[in-house]
Amino acid sequence: MSVRVRFAPSPTGFLHVGGARTALFNQLFARSQGGVFVLRIEDTDTERSTDTSTQAIFDALRWLGLTWDEGPGVGGEHGPYFQSERGEHYLAALRRLEAAGAAYPAYETPEELEAMREAQTQRGESPRYDGRARDLSGAERAAFEAAGRRPAWRFRLPASGETAWDDIVRGRIAFQNEVLDDFVLVRSDGLPTYNFACVVDDIAMRISHVVRGDDHISNTPRQLLIYSALAAAPPRFAHASMILGPDGKRLSKRHGATSVEAFGEQGIVPEAMVNFLALLGWALDGKTELFTLAELERVFTLERVGANPAVFDTAKLEWINAQHLKRLAEPDRIARVTAFLRARGHDLSGRSEAWIREFVHALGDRLKTLADAETVGGFALAEDVTYEPDAWASLLQRPQADDKLTALAGAIAADSEGSLASIEAAIRALAAERGIKFGDLVAPARVALTGRSASPGIFEVVHLLGREQSMARLRAAAARWAAEAPAAAG
Ligand code: GLU
Repeated sequence: MSVRVRFAPSPTGFLHVGGARTALFNQLFARSQGGVFVLRIEDTDTERSTDTSTQAIFDALRWLGLTWDEGPGVGGEHGPYFQSERGEHYLAALRRLEAAGAAYPAYETPEELEAMREAQTQRGESPRYDGRARDLSGAERAAFEAAGRRPAWRFRLPASGETAWDDIVRGRIAFQNEVLDDFVLVRSDGLPTYNFACVVDDIAMRISHVVRGDDHISNTPRQLLIYSALAAAPPRFAHASMILGPDGKRLSKRHGATSVEAFGEQGIVPEAMVNFLALLGWALDGKTELFTLAELERVFTLERVGANPAVFDTAKLEWINAQHLKRLAEPDRIARVTAFLRARGHDLSGRSEAWIREFVHALGDRLKTLADAETVGGFALAEDVTYEPDAWASLLQRPQADDKLTALAGAIAADSEGSLASIEAAIRALAAERGIKFGDLVAPARVALTGRSASPGIFEVVHLLGREQSMARLRAAAARWAAEAPAAAG
């Protein structure tokens, strides 16, 4: 059997971590099996689906580097790939279920259904549709129709027995049919429900494996019953574990950013996001942590998707991100940093290519996310330096910092060459001349020039800032020290 899988998002918001992982697992499984990856947009909920969300989902998938073989923008034999354009398929399937006696029209109003549920609750029963329209006569139906009522079509559930499947991730899962009820297939407004449209499309699109989050486990028995009523062979199911936040609760907005787009805005590169998502519930051998998408496409198996909840660990995401940033070829790294800074509103038009290259080089391993270009590298991007309070407080504690900063400004002024090498020579010469330990000269200078206690190498900092700006910052810090230090010393 050839492998055909699908990612079937509902376009009711951004692509979130869970959905992105589902999309990724589907692509990885398809590619590892030489199969086909289908994208289908489940937009039958006309009130909540928006074109903006659809676009946001496409953008996020593309940003991740995911590519579907069939679907919107690509086409394929089994289209259309928007459920909103597949109405006739659902209608045809409904007619078949009706003919088989597996679907029936039910005419209750929302108020009547509510009253039914209330009565059940009062009796201590769990609310469920009681099947009251199961056996309406032709005359009764006609009377409802004549009264202007439009029916919802419900599935006629088998009276007893169980519905079970062998889940690739979790093993055998079984539901007693009696805990289900005659669920709706097509609503009175003519729109199919998720469970119905999903099955009709999975059959039409020849889906062999349904890989999705475990929040859909309770839908699976209903879907299996529809397959059986349509006399279609069901696909295999694989329900990946849920994703938890660091506090052990299901990952949600409370935990901060969860949309894929937001991670990009925070400076995560797509290679790292893909790598990280793959490890949310899957592992190759419990040791190997770094993968490219191409590697994952070779080694991924559903058998190694775990049933235990996966925990979203931000520190791990950042570590993986740092590793991928390190691996980028330099021109690529430069391009990513530049694009990130531009998107954040930094005007780099006055900067030479050489300056930008040196800037990125100076960030070195401090670049754990692209956003570090803005924090660690912020000193070089703005006209004025902003002192971090702790860094400035530590500078105030340093004896005669103003003298040292002023002397350093003088040495830099005297260095007419202004190259990285001449800057280094000038600073070392000053330290030797004054008998100041190199570190005691550099530490206050670092705060004065960058506003922070940690920064790229001091020679590079001076070189990136240029002579004028370096001198100005050193002198301004010296003056401020002289004004504040005596009071600070108390
Ligand atoms: N539209 C459903 C969702 O976004 C798809 C579930 C499935 O994969 O069957 O949750």
